[in-house]
Amino acid sequence: MERCPVCRATLADSTTCRRCGSELASAIQAQTEARRLLQKAVSALATGRPAHAARLATASSQLDYTPLAVAIKNFVEHRRDTEQENSANTFTENTEGNAV
Ligand SMILES: [Zn+2]
Repeated sequence: MERCPVCRATLADSTTCRRCGSELASAIQAQTEARRLLQKAVSALATGRPAHAARLATASSQLDYTPLAVAIKNFVEHRRDTEQENSANTFTENTEGNAV
């Protein structure tokens, strides 16, 4: 965590903000867990487990909302939509094939 989420002051290596005094240990711990989940999401995506990757990215973004977590979720949803369109097209083609 580079900045205090309360006052945006730059943080040193302390878990307490030097400007506003906020205790940030829980927030730092949540961010660390979010990063761990995000790394697992990327790994799941890379090993062909998109549904698992989406669940991990969702869990990560609930702890720390990041563009990468959103991108993984959107990628998996887009991929799912594309697969449904492709199977719909296949079905249409089969139906047309049978009708002829
Ligand atoms: Zn602060």
